[in-house]
Amino acid sequence: MKLSVRPEQRYFFENRRRHSSCCRGKPPPAFSASITVSPLGENPAQIMCPKCHRTVLSEVEYSSGLFTYLFCGGLFLCGFVFGCCLIPFCVDRLKDAKHTCPTCKTVLGVYRRL
Ligand SMILES: [Zn+2]
Repeated sequence: MKLSVRPEQRYFFENRRRHSSCCRGKPPPAFSASITVSPLGENPAQIMCPKCHRTVLSEVEYSSGLFTYLFCGGLFLCGFVFGCCLIPFCVDRLKDAKHTCPTCKTVLGVYRRL
């Protein structure tokens, strides 16, 4: 019986034989990748998307969060009535920021102020 081995398989078997003599007993080398992930803030950040595996500049969508409501309540208590206490709902810097991938629209993370 003749065993046919394709060239790429032979390369694998030869490499395995070569390494089995020197690397016996040692754990396989761990896969190490250096991925720089900038912490998500209120501004668009460069981040690697876990779904499409691309490094993208995230799209930011602002939405009212706990901090926005507390700021509104604080303004109301300080005398900002007649709608002036609703100013925080118009200011993006007082809202939470939701980062999404511009390619596949996956939510990459949410930056909450509180
Ligand atoms: Zn993506």
